[in-house]
Amino acid sequence: MYHRIAKPDADIWKIAVDPVNFEQQIQFLRKKTTVLSVPELVEAVRNKKVKSNTVAITFDDGYADNFLVAKPILDQYAVPATFFVASQTIGTTAEFWWDELENILLFAPQLPAAFSLLVADQLITASLEQETHLSDALRLQLQHWDASNEPAPSHRASLFLKVWQQLRPLSHAEQQQQLHAIREWASMLPSQRPDYRAMSVAELRTLASSELHTIGLHTHTHPALAFHTAEVQQQEIQRNKTFLEQHTGHQPTILAYPYGNHNQETIAVAAQLHLQACFTTEVKLVGHDSDKFRLGRFQVLNNPVSSFAQQLHKWQKG
Ligand SMILES: [Zn+2]
Repeated sequence: MYHRIAKPDADIWKIAVDPVNFEQQIQFLRKKTTVLSVPELVEAVRNKKVKSNTVAITFDDGYADNFLVAKPILDQYAVPATFFVASQTIGTTAEFWWDELENILLFAPQLPAAFSLLVADQLITASLEQETHLSDALRLQLQHWDASNEPAPSHRASLFLKVWQQLRPLSHAEQQQQLHAIREWASMLPSQRPDYRAMSVAELRTLASSELHTIGLHTHTHPALAFHTAEVQQQEIQRNKTFLEQHTGHQPTILAYPYGNHNQETIAVAAQLHLQACFTTEVKLVGHDSDKFRLGRFQVLNNPVSSFAQQLHKWQKG
């Protein structure tokens, strides 16, 4: 599982792989493993014919770098990939909410000292104390933070985590309302960094027209599905499906749950829409006994080929 092929200044969720490392990783996979497309893998699971040393490559979210940077490398080595695309940001200059939140709370050059925000009946308050001004030292510390594995190293980071946790289960409209309030508090305009944009419609169309690659579902607004009603879940997936059909001319049949988050109702919706398979972010191998609505994945880190090979070997041992 990949998200971004890029070299951002900060990557607190470890979702960006440097293009140089990515090319080495793809070269290695091409030489040392059998790379199937996701539809081929799903077919192999169904027929109980998954062979060892087989991999499939996926990308989540629909960042423009998938098209601009990853696709040329994949094409060069004739390696297939599936791109799970959230439709709402396609063709816009807006950033995903998590990128904008990070840009404001961690990296704004100057913030007010006192923070207070009411989110779903929860009052979040914080005092940034010595961190209102982003010093070079603080910036470096935050740029190197691994938010999934390390405790918050500063006041800004702990505030960011608190707000991130409260915003994640909300609807897109509520998230945008909260982001608006946070922007106002920080006296900032909406973040529209070109490096963080999603694909344009034309880029999506070109990617989808490739024989090698597949476009998959990732919902319309990227909600954490299990926090929403079955009806909302159904609308999110259906709207995504309609958008992708309209703009690519293909019917997407495979879904990746945003944040891996799902429940029984999500699976019922997927079955009702006749989807062939769904991916979580659970760290596990795909095999004959895998539940086709709960296929696992491994997040590829920004590692040079030597450590990538070691990591791959560990994953294959299960
Ligand atoms: Zn996602």
